[in-house]
Amino acid sequence: MKKYWPSIVMLVIFEIVAVTLRLTKDNLFYLFNFSYIGLSISFGVFLFIRKYKHARRVVQLLVGLYMLIYLGLICNENMQIEGFWYYLFTGVFEAATIHYAVAKIFGPMIFGRGWCGYACWTAMVLDFLPYKIPKTPRKKIGWIRYIVFAASLVFVAALFLAKVGNIERIMFWAFIVGNIIYYAVGVILAFAFKDNRAFCKYICPITVFLKPMSYFSLLRIKCDKEKCVSCGKCKKVCPMNVDVTDNSRKRQNGTECILCMECVKRCPQNAL
Ligand code: SF4
Ligand code: SF4
Ligand code: SF4
Repeated sequence: MKKYWPSIVMLVIFEIVAVTLRLTKDNLFYLFNFSYIGLSISFGVFLFIRKYKHARRVVQLLVGLYMLIYLGLICNENMQIEGFWYYLFTGVFEAATIHYAVAKIFGPMIFGRGWCGYACWTAMVLDFLPYKIPKTPRKKIGWIRYIVFAASLVFVAALFLAKVGNIERIMFWAFIVGNIIYYAVGVILAFAFKDNRAFCKYICPITVFLKPMSYFSLLRIKCDKEKCVSCGKCKKVCPMNVDVTDNSRKRQNGTECILCMECVKRCPQNAL
């Protein structure tokens, strides 16, 4: 049973969040929402411990489809960055603001970019494409993410400044159109750069939050230098080009690690 502790710890952490929000926000939805996400992640960790090779993909589908279809399309919650600005401007700590606080702003200080590896519904689709391991070197065009980030802020701010009516409806359509654009750009870039995660590396505006916060992550892949024989297999399979054998926080592309564990699985020395 001892080896299943990480799975139980994950469940307990999410249950604490679920119960705390249920009590403070007096809303049963939070209990259901965070319990479901916690159960999905805990199940994925359990599968990973059992060495099931698609464990991460199972969690990604369980959480990603739930958020995209149930929360986004059925409950009309815009959980994209525009939804975050919308709730922030209305001064309500609900839905997208809670989601961002937990998964994308404060959470990454504990679990890094776990969101990107196990829950994001954009990457959930992109990870089905054929370039799991990047086939071309990294490009220096990461500045595009700041333009997309600013554009999303300006778009929502303009709606408020122009006092546009029925912004909630606009947010729903922004969610639909935004997702279609993300998927289209993500697929085109993946094929153009022969890299499934090109969208994550250069375009995604959420990385403006994720990258600096995950710098401080408690959970990170470390290399046991005593065991490592510098074979380089870990770096070859990394979808995010992380210099994983460097243990410093400043390692190359360190804030890009999505905790996918491909390097850990591939290391012949169990050094990671
Ligand atoms: S970088 Fe953006 S698109 Fe990629 S997995 Fe993370 S949140 Fe999703
Ligand atoms: S392969 Fe390793 S270093 Fe690269 S993203 Fe996955 S967990 Fe992080
Ligand atoms: S795969 Fe393992 S042994 Fe090889 S370089 Fe990476 S950490 Fe070292």
